This record gives sequence, C-alpha cells and structure tokens, in this order.
Amino acid sequence: MENFTFYTPTKIYFGKDQIKKLPQSIAPYGKRVLLVYGGGSIKRNGIYDQATTLLTEQGFEITELSGVEPNPRLETVEKGVKLCRDHQIEGIIAIGGGSTIDCSKAISAGVFYEGSPWDFTKDSSLITKTLPLFTVLTMAATGSEMNWGAVITNVETNEKLGIHSVLMIPKVSILDPTYTYTVPTKHTAAGSVDILSHLLENYFSQNKGAYVQDRISEGIMRTVINYAPQALKQPDNYEARANLMWSSTLALNGLTGRGKVGTWSCHPMEHELSAFYDITHGIGLAILTPRWMKYILNEDTVEQMANLAHYVWDIPVNSDNLFETAEKGIQAFYDCFVSWGIPMTLEEVGIPEDNLQLMAEKAVEHSTLATTAYVPLAVKDVRAIYENCLT
Ligand code: NAP
Ligand code: FE
Repeated sequence: MENFTFYTPTKIYFGKDQIKKLPQSIAPYGKRVLLVYGGGSIKRNGIYDQATTLLTEQGFEITELSGVEPNPRLETVEKGVKLCRDHQIEGIIAIGGGSTIDCSKAISAGVFYEGSPWDFTKDSSLITKTLPLFTVLTMAATGSEMNWGAVITNVETNEKLGIHSVLMIPKVSILDPTYTYTVPTKHTAAGSVDILSHLLENYFSQNKGAYVQDRISEGIMRTVINYAPQALKQPDNYEARANLMWSSTLALNGLTGRGKVGTWSCHPMEHELSAFYDITHGIGLAILTPRWMKYILNEDTVEQMANLAHYVWDIPVNSDNLFETAEKGIQAFYDCFVSWGIPMTLEEVGIPEDNLQLMAEKAVEHSTLATTAYVPLAVKDVRAIYENCLT
C-alpha cells in the first residue's frame, strides 16, 4: 500500500427529514445563498418547496440558478459566477445529482478567479479560494457530495474535463434516500453503474497489497448489485435507496482509492462519448466497462479479474484456468447491465463510427491513459475498444 493523505471533511446528515439541518449548517457562513438546481425535478417532487420554506423561515436571501444540464456546461458555471458576484453570495446550495453539484463546485471556485473557470481543467492549482458549498443529494451516482472532483463540459470545443481541488469539497451534504424515490429508471440504472465504475477504476490498480481497499470495494459492489434491481422494481423501497445512496458516497470519497497507484481507464474514455454526443455518463460506462475488461485481460491482469469474479459474483475459482473464471465475471457484469435495462451498444445510444478515431485521440490527449492507466492504452487500443462497443 502506498503512502496517502485521506481528507474527507464533509459532514453528512443521512436519513429522512435531515433537510431540517440545512439552515443551521449554512448560518455560520452568512445569509445570502445561491440555490443551484437542474431541469426542474426538485420542483416536481417537492424538495424545492421544502428547502426554500426552511431557508426563508430562517431569514436566508435566496438567489437561484436553475437549468443545470446533465453534463453541466461551462456557460452555466459562468452564469453562476456572475450571480454570486452580483448578489455578494456567501454560500452555495446545490440540490440535485452530480451535475448540479459539479457545476456548483466550479462556480464556488470561479468566483475568486478573474479568468475563465475552464482554466481550472488545465491547472487546478489556480483554485485558491472557494465559497462554502452545501449539497442536498437527489440521486445516487457520482460521490460528488463528498469528494474533491467536478466534471465540466465545454460544448464549443467538445471537451468534458475534470477539476480537482480539496477546496471544493462540500462542507455539508444532506443524504435523504426518500429524495431519490422519483429518480427515473434510466438514471437509477446509470447511477448504479457509475458507482460500480468508481470502485472498479480503483480496484484495477498497478500495486498489490491494498487488500482492505479491495475488500471494501467488493462489499460495496455486492451492495449495489443486490439493491439496484430492488430500486428499479420498487422505486420507493427505502432500504434499497438508502444502500445505493451511501454506496455512491463511499465509492468515491477516497475510502477505496487512496493507497493505490495508477489512473483511471473507463472514465476518460467515457468523457469523450459524453463530450461529443451528450450521452448519460453511466450508460457510456456500462457500454465500455465489459469491453475494456475483455480487452485488457492478459497474464498480468487475470488474477485480479478472477478475484473480482469470485468475490463479487461468487463464481468458483478455476485455478487451472483463471481466464475462464475472469471471463465469467466479465460476462456477469454485462448480463447485469442488460438486466437493468441499459442499452449496451454505441449504436443504440446514437453514436456512429464517424468520430471514433478523433475521440480515441482526445481520450489519450486528455488523460494519462497511455502512461499510468492500469493497462496503458494507446490511441489504437482506445479506438479498438470503442469499435468493440459499436454493436
Ligand atoms: P445528473 O446529471 O445530476 O442527473 C441526471 C438526471 O436525473 C437529470 O435529468 C435530473 O433531473 C434527474 N434527477 C436527479 N435527481 C432526481 C430525482 N430525485 N427525481 C427525478 N429526477 C432526478 O446525474 P448524475 O449521474 O448524478 O451526474 C452525472 C454527472 O456527474 C456527469 O457529468 C458525470 O460526468 C459527473 N461525475 C462526477 C463525478 C465527481 O466525482 N464529481 C464522478 C462521476 C461522474 P433535473 O436536472 O431535473 O434535476
Ligand atoms: Fe463517474
């Protein structure tokens, strides 16, 4: 296990009615807040009314930024920065999923930077100060509610890139599983894949000996695999929603990734699909993951792939033929995603062959895929993986 710093200072209020803790959490920072949300789901399911009533009762002055897009865009971040400056905002409240939270993180940093917030995607050290961020999570997926990352899209350049700064970690996150009852089936499934993918990205790492991280990861993967079908079948199943929600947070708050070496593989490849075709992040990951696993399966990776098959899917280990065990595990992920109703080809999500080469080049240019990924991937490898996803 490598040396690491684990710093996850978000205070979590988990469970029913925890929204009541929101006003007291923000109060020490000031009363002028920017309320950020997406396309309106929080108005339809009542969370907006609940939050704004609590805040106005306590004398908060609310400025709103609505319409944050899934795959949040730079121009929306810029709009938020302007609102913060115009209204001397003292704190940001994000109510929504990863897109709303990520957009709010970029706004929180952009307020104190004279240039474009897009610059942060090239150099996160430009972030020197942020507004305090408070989140009310409405879907289980990204872990953004307790981590230091944000992913922003620049539609003009077809780029979707990450920003990382510990200064953007939310101060407080409210996790009420009942708020996820209204998440549509497609996003429940896609969010569950995203959780699995965050765990898998860390699970496949270049170093051995991070045993505890791997066993925690397997436990969270088993949890998601157990509860996602229940949430899909019965959207108001509290136990299922609660377990998915806490899994999303634990999967990417550093718990399973610190102490590991190497960088991610499927996320950089997926970001190009979303950047070029604006598809749902978790759907892109579902299509890519089993194909990536197949592509990188070799003498060096087979042991960990077989571990995954065994500890996550209870597939008996065939010690005479670890490849057989590993392949059964890969197939189990594929079949699982199919059973969650996910379209499993690029064709089905409207991605033709046209830009595969360009996206492969961009994926390598924008990431460390070719150098420090679990199995380093050159442009030709990424292109081959994309091709295997076509049909
Ligand atoms: P999302 O894009 O925030 O939301 C997806 C859809 O679900 C939206 O249409 C949203 O509608 C709807 N929705 C959310 N909560 C709902 C609810 N309770 N009821 C009904 N509809 C609801 O989804 P996400 O998967 O959480 O975030 C995806 C983004 O996060 C991507 O850009 C991805 O790249 C990024 N990401 C970030 C990290 C990180 O660490 N920061 C990690 C992985 C991925 P409304 O807009 O109407 O609310
Ligand atoms: Fe993700």
